[in-house]
Amino acid sequence: MNYLNKKSIEDINVVGKKVLVRCDFNVPFDEQGNISDPKRIDESLRTIRYLIAHNAKIILCSHLGRPKGEFNLKYSLKSVAEYLSGALKQQIKMCKDVIGESAKEITSSLNEGEIALLENVRFHTEEEQNDVEFAKQLASFADIYVNDAFGTSHRAHASTTGVAAFLPSVCGYLIEKELRVMGEAINNPKRPFIAILGGAKVSDKIGVINHLLDKVDAILIGGGMAYTFMHALGYSTGDSICESEKITVAKDVMIAAKEKFVKFLLPMDNRVGRKFAPNTVYKTVSSDSIEEGWLGLDIGPKTEELFKEALKGAGTIIWNGPMGVFEWENFSNGTFAVAKAVAESGAVSIIGGGDSAAAVEKLGFAEKMTHISTGGGASLEFLEGIELPGIAALDDK
Ligand code: AMP
Repeated sequence: MNYLNKKSIEDINVVGKKVLVRCDFNVPFDEQGNISDPKRIDESLRTIRYLIAHNAKIILCSHLGRPKGEFNLKYSLKSVAEYLSGALKQQIKMCKDVIGESAKEITSSLNEGEIALLENVRFHTEEEQNDVEFAKQLASFADIYVNDAFGTSHRAHASTTGVAAFLPSVCGYLIEKELRVMGEAINNPKRPFIAILGGAKVSDKIGVINHLLDKVDAILIGGGMAYTFMHALGYSTGDSICESEKITVAKDVMIAAKEKFVKFLLPMDNRVGRKFAPNTVYKTVSSDSIEEGWLGLDIGPKTEELFKEALKGAGTIIWNGPMGVFEWENFSNGTFAVAKAVAESGAVSIIGGGDSAAAVEKLGFAEKMTHISTGGGASLEFLEGIELPGIAALDDK
């Protein structure tokens, strides 16, 4: 599939049309029930503003959390409607249901430039089942479908994929940007092209590593996944997280990297702790001397320098997965050092969603990155070269 060949919102006439927009309003809430990080809603504003400016009748939909197919006030999109009203300075007509009487009444009486928000699509089990009848009912509200929920585009659900079978279907600005920036990096990167991969497990990233081996000049590995590679090299890794069933795969990856002349860097040293706990006793040891009773929780200072040097002069950097348990201060140094090195590299820098995005934001480097993807799972699958069903379903130019 050629991602860059998909129609965008600017390739279709939306004037006066009813436009169903699948957004990603799956935002986090604090204990008082307030939206704690509205980034995902903010990211959708450009598409919505374009539709307002072009006199469309706008019907927004999204999922929020995992309500397991039934109405649950805790997962209502009402507070999203309030936030949107403030951000857009216009009333949002909140529907009480998804495809019921309230949705029918509100969406059928919209005037040009007005906005309705359907309730959480996951209040229906049919959403995740990609049920044809449910998709048809959603589609019946509109003349055009716009998918702008990059974060769920790797899921074939009724509101991300099914609905596209019944309407002219295009992508919004958010998806368009994700595809353009990541597509350009993968297919036409400024070199040297370096991937930094971390996070807990090799198994989650093996597909990405294999795909990137044909694209990049170097791969830097940190985080819990590094220990499976170290184990494969014959090092003792103490009590570090290690996927013994992935050791052969890890060996194969390292052989392939050598054959493809891809530089493959593993940590030289590590901050190891006694227990998997934020205030555990810890020390720095080289990668060939992790003892039993200790576990690697972050890369060490020599590795920080090694990675910093490797990133100097990079043309493009893709980063997915933290270098250690960055959520705990004692083990956030490695992730901080790498974030700083990426930010200062001058390279086109792309941060995969999820934990890497959270880390870059928490550590204060978000503004310095070229692109922070809004989709954790979706950006990983994109980097793996897997077809995203929510994008594949859209019309070609
Ligand atoms: P992922 O979702 O696979 O990118 O993994 C992110 C998670 O990996 C974060 O919550 C980190 O705390 C965790 N992580 C990173 N390094 C380690 C490590 N050395 N041991 C255990 N967990 C780790």
